[in-house]
Order: sequence, then structure tokens, then C-alpha cells
Amino acid sequence: MNRAIYPGSFDPVTYGHLDIIERSSRLFDCLVVAILNNPKKDYLFSVDERIHMLKESTKHLYNVEIDSFSGLLVDYAKIKDAKVIVKGLRAISDFEYELQMASINKKLSPSIETLFMMTNNKYSYLSSSIVKEVALFNGNVDCLVPPIVSNCIYQKIKDKYGDKYNQYKTQQRYYCCDLKDTMLEEFLIKK
Ligand code: ADP
Repeated sequence: MNRAIYPGSFDPVTYGHLDIIERSSRLFDCLVVAILNNPKKDYLFSVDERIHMLKESTKHLYNVEIDSFSGLLVDYAKIKDAKVIVKGLRAISDFEYELQMASINKKLSPSIETLFMMTNNKYSYLSSSIVKEVALFNGNVDCLVPPIVSNCIYQKIKDKYGDKYNQYKTQQRYYCCDLKDTMLEEFLIKK
């Protein structure tokens, strides 16, 4: 079986990630979306929550499997019998880090290839961190993440930041359905 791995934090999954998942799932028999569980990193969502959001968001893709891993990616790839690692590239800033990762992975495991997929232009600015920032200030993230994620993110921020969040909740939210022609600033609350 021609199997590939798409690793990442997915804290949370965005439409940018889903675009890469959909496009790369067409190239392989099976695509394993692997959530990195790094105990040293401070995530907003637990691994189980990230798995849940990814499973819900990819349930229409029959050959996509959701899993989590810790430790070296190449070791995990061997366990899953995957020969390809898929990475999404947004900008030059991604490239430098990804080139380093691809090179060390090649050194550790020469038989595993890294495949870079260019982001869809309309998602080139999109990252999990920007989604969290917009949601924290009660901006509308509906055009950035699937409905399951936007529901979870507001609830999580409310649980985590309580009163601070309630302050923002009373302010006007910005609504926009088509991000393609809209500057990101329009999603931010004007204070
Ligand atoms: P983030 O930078 O959003 O926290 P992750 O660490 O979860 O993302 O990234 C997982 C993979 O998805 C990486 O290969 C990353 O470059 C890619 N990726 C993230 N956002 C996008 C996007 N908007 N378009 C294309 N690829 C992306």
C-alpha cells in the first residue's frame, strides 16, 4: 500500500491544513494525518480534542486516517510503513525550517521522501496561531476553520480565559463569508 504521513500540531486544524489533506489524499492509497504530541509544547487543545476535530473535518475522505505520535517522525513513519512525508509550504519562512527538517529526516532514514505541497494562495496567510489570536479577540473564524473547530475554539477560550473573554463577547463581531477578497484586518475587532 502506498501510504503517506502528514504530520503537524493541528492546534487546531484549519482550512489550510484541510486543503493539503484533500489534495494529498488523492495521491496516495492512504494518508495518515499524524498529530504531534510534544510534551514540551503548550497546546490550546489536548491530543484527544485535536483528534476529534480532525476526524470530524475529514470524515468525507475515505482514505484518510487520524493518529497521534511522539518521538521521531521517521520512527513513526517506519511503524506506519509510510514512505512519504507530506509538508505544506506557505512562504519562504516555512521553507527554511522545512528544508532543515527534510534534510535531517533524510539523514536518519534515507528511504523516506519528503514531499512539499504549495499552499492554495487563498490560505497562504493562514496558521493555527492566527486563528487562535482572532478567536481570542472574538473575531469571526468561520471562514478560517470548519464549523466543528469554531465551536470548540470559542468554548475552549471561554473555559480558559473566562471573564476576559466575556468582556470581548459583548463587542461587535465582524462577519464575512468570503475571505478571498478580504484583508485579514477586517476579521480583527477594532477596539
Ligand atoms: P501551524 O503552522 O498552522 O501551527 P502545523 O504545525 O499544524 O501548522 O503544520 C502542519 C503542516 O501544515 C506543516 O507542514 C505546515 O507547513 C502546513 N500548513 C499549515 N498551515 C498551512 C496552510 N495555510 N497552507 C498550507 N500548509 C499549511
